[in-house]
Amino acid sequence: MDFRFSEQEKAFQKEVEDFIKQELPPRYTEKSVYWPGGYGTIAEFEEIIPEIDHFRHRLGEKGWLTMSWPREYGGASRTHIERAIFGERMSYYRAPGPEVAVLIGGPTILRFGSEEMKREWLPGIARGDTKFWLAYSEPNAGSDLVSLQTRATEDGDDLIINGQKIWSSGAHIAGYAWMVVRTDPSAPPHKGISLIIVDNKSPGITIRPLMNICNRHSFNEVFFDNVRAPKKNIVGEKNKGWYYLMVALDFERLITPIGGFKRTLEELTQYARHTKHNGQALCQNALIRNKLAEMAIQTEVAYMFFWQTAWMLDRGLMPNIEASLLKLFTTQLSQKLAEVGMQVLGHYGQLDETSKFVPLRGRVCLGYLDCISALVGAGTSEIQRNIIAMRGLGLPLT
Ligand SMILES: Cc1cc2nc3c(=O)[nH]c(=O)nc-3n(C[C@H](O)[C@H](O)[C@H](O)COP(=O)(O)OP(=O)(O)OC[C@H]3O[C@@H](n4cnc5c(N)ncnc54)[C@H](O)[C@@H]3O)c2cc1C
Repeated sequence: MDFRFSEQEKAFQKEVEDFIKQELPPRYTEKSVYWPGGYGTIAEFEEIIPEIDHFRHRLGEKGWLTMSWPREYGGASRTHIERAIFGERMSYYRAPGPEVAVLIGGPTILRFGSEEMKREWLPGIARGDTKFWLAYSEPNAGSDLVSLQTRATEDGDDLIINGQKIWSSGAHIAGYAWMVVRTDPSAPPHKGISLIIVDNKSPGITIRPLMNICNRHSFNEVFFDNVRAPKKNIVGEKNKGWYYLMVALDFERLITPIGGFKRTLEELTQYARHTKHNGQALCQNALIRNKLAEMAIQTEVAYMFFWQTAWMLDRGLMPNIEASLLKLFTTQLSQKLAEVGMQVLGHYGQLDETSKFVPLRGRVCLGYLDCISALVGAGTSEIQRNIIAMRGLGLPLT
């Protein structure tokens, strides 16, 4: 086992870091209140979407959005370790990196899509032009997603879709729904589902905002009323969508803002070093030191899970239990870090982001609220434990 980066990897890490420092829009850094693992404060950035899009396009030009994809589909055939190095530095600087189409849709199309579908969709995703939102959950289908009711019936070359999705993050800013629909209601539930890409501009789609815990617009409810989508947009084979979805969910669970944990811990440590309470620096308090040390241990463990999954992908192995482990561990870390942040900041942690006295831009206060989101999105913590018990330990599901 060799934990060191090669000289080439170290050089790449520096190249990424230099690029971010030079290209990240200053307004973005000023505005960012992002908490590692949170979904709720990403919405903050809506007002500077053109600048974010420009930054993403620059990443696309460098070939970094999809660097581990084959060259023929817009990738750079780099290793997953290099992709992970990129992701680590991006999240350390809280930079707006690859989104759903790059991280979930694209890799799933690469595995299961037809050649025609790959040629149609992957280059646009690699350039940063094509954005997806995830149209999975419904009012009566969350953890038990196989109960989904949104129907799609065939009509010539099209499917006609009717139903409702909910908790649809970013549906209002993405161009296409990456969507699961029921295409064969007479089949057993797992066998009658298809995965399809649907254009947001299609007539019959209504998107309504839902404000999140941070009082920002990240979620939506989305209604489909006789919406037409071409059958050629079905990923892989019709009625096999459930199987593809399981792999897409593994890709989703591998997304972790790992560098954000390190950065936040560094900021809290600096705060404890330089802030006085009752005449002495916070870091003189053994309880504060203990809590920060505990977070340092857990951050290191999270890094190990993170590198392990990249290592597996480089060997052609699909992290499955490992994806659930990573997701569960890092989202719990997000919550623990928010608690420790509150303890380090004391009363100041509870100040609203607009207060002139608020430390660390109010990130801790918002993060304390927002950290709940990642424990639920992409499958709740209970569902991750179920997967680990069932697939990892071979225990029954009942
Ligand atoms: C921030 C955020 C972003 C999201 N973004 C999207 C998105 O973009 N697209 C999308 O489609 N969905 C999205 N979701 C929805 C998310 O996938 C669902 O909320 C999640 O799968 C849980 O479903 P549910 O809310 O219906 O809760 P339920 O499934 O009703 O669960 C309620 C509680 O019961 C527990 N529970 C349920 N079943 C079991 C079981 N078998 N064993 C043990 N415990 C169980 C759960 O863990 C939970 O605590 C998002 C959610 C959040 C919070």
